[in-house]
Amino acid sequence: MLALLLFVPPESGYLYPMKYPAVHNIIAGAPRDASNALPAIDVFNPSDGSVLSRVPMSGHHEVDLAVQAAHKAWPAWAATPIKERVQVFYKYKALLEKNIAELATLITEENGKIDNEARAEILKAAELTEFACSLPQITAGEVLEVSRGVECRIERFPLGVVAAITPFNFPVMVPNWSMPNAIALGNCMILKPSEIVPLSSIKIAGLLREAGLPEGVFQVVHGGKEAVEAICDHTGIAAVSFVGSTKTAKVVYRRATATLKRCLALGGAKNHLIVMPDADAEMTSGNVVASMSGCAGQRCMAASVMVAVADTDAIIAKMVLKARAMVPGPDIGPVISQQSKDRILHYIEEAVAHGAKILVDGRHATVHGREKGYWLGPTILDHVTPEMRIAQEEVFGPVLVIIRAGDIDAALKIENASPYGNAASVFTESGGIARHVMEHAQAGMVGVNVGVPVPREPFSFGGWNDSRFGVGDITGRGSIEFWTQAKKMTTKWNREAGTNWMS
Ligand code: NAD
Repeated sequence: MLALLLFVPPESGYLYPMKYPAVHNIIAGAPRDASNALPAIDVFNPSDGSVLSRVPMSGHHEVDLAVQAAHKAWPAWAATPIKERVQVFYKYKALLEKNIAELATLITEENGKIDNEARAEILKAAELTEFACSLPQITAGEVLEVSRGVECRIERFPLGVVAAITPFNFPVMVPNWSMPNAIALGNCMILKPSEIVPLSSIKIAGLLREAGLPEGVFQVVHGGKEAVEAICDHTGIAAVSFVGSTKTAKVVYRRATATLKRCLALGGAKNHLIVMPDADAEMTSGNVVASMSGCAGQRCMAASVMVAVADTDAIIAKMVLKARAMVPGPDIGPVISQQSKDRILHYIEEAVAHGAKILVDGRHATVHGREKGYWLGPTILDHVTPEMRIAQEEVFGPVLVIIRAGDIDAALKIENASPYGNAASVFTESGGIARHVMEHAQAGMVGVNVGVPVPREPFSFGGWNDSRFGVGDITGRGSIEFWTQAKKMTTKWNREAGTNWMS
């Protein structure tokens, strides 16, 4: 154990201890170094600031090598019947479950989330894989005799070599939004994981290999901006899915479509929970606090703004008790970096300076023995106004702002003024109010009495407006359209059928 903790890869030349050897790209089934044109960067453990590993920063050369290997693997993979292709994913799902403890440790170390959150993310990856295993049943083609003796049929074909670019906040789940479906549908995929959390993706590649996926069908190219730009620019890549901030999503969408690729780019969020005075106080307070603090608020589905309609003070009082009871370390993990922590603190301090009232203050959180971690406790601010920056921009930390509204339409107006459109929820006992919000909220995923309204398979995941660029959704049935193209076939075998106005 000690030897592992003090491991310094001989080639690194670095003098400090790292828990894991330096990370490599996985190209054509084998670990490969990057060309070293760009310096590798450190991978940190956010709970204590220690260095876990180093990650190569790849560029065009490495992306091109992966594209070449993928094109070599693709004809055989595309020609494999889908019922055979998904056999790999039955095994992969079992391996995810078998390796849950090791994967959860990796997620906890590189991302910071607590163990049960890490395990939930892996279980969700298994559910996504379960959907991929059902694709043969869902993608059976369509056939109809459209006129006498003339048959039309539709079959779906893979696109070829595709890519997925993923963020730091779900190192296992988000790659699995795209990978199992894209590959089961016959594509070869290159994953460019977040350079902040590269370790989990290497484990994923190992599990896929163990499950029997042929080399070159799934590859991992590490890096940041340069690797992403190389993916966007490469004409050998047919489609790219992106998940990350809105700023990067816009860059990626514009650049990838400039080379006429398909692109689906999911961006950031500012999710509003509307709380009505008739809402169940116990359930609502628990759900709101869990939504704003889960994964340290670093979820694109996290509650960020609570719009409190009329007198909801009894609910707020319960929220305050629940948030104050959370202990940093066992109940809530750190945020991803010192830079992130500083940004979040700045939002809080600016809001307080502009008149917001702090009900729960997590700014001074620390964990004994891990003081160098990037800790923040749940923070709740009341009497925030819609004009404040903290009410408008994505904070991406365990911070909830409360904006007061007089009635449901005023609350919806506040919600719909946001340029984002990922998720929105309403807490109420009234069916009429619930229906009104579901119909009028400008968001792709809407909940009633649910703090995190994530649709589960077979329903698709995806927001609206500045939370999603491109057409369709990233998971479930929505992804089938994105990762395939339909061929429409018209056939006639009986000579007697003659010709008509359509032929
Ligand atoms: P990010 O945009 O910084 O990074 C995402 C990916 O883009 C990474 O792989 C990164 O290497 C790359 N990248 C970063 N800057 C780039 C640039 N200038 N040019 C090209 N590529 C670049 O996002 P993040 O901080 O890793 O993740 C958090 C963000 O992701 C939040 O905004 C969150 O809301 C969002 N997110 C959205 C969803 C969703 O479903 N809409 C899901 C998860 C996370």
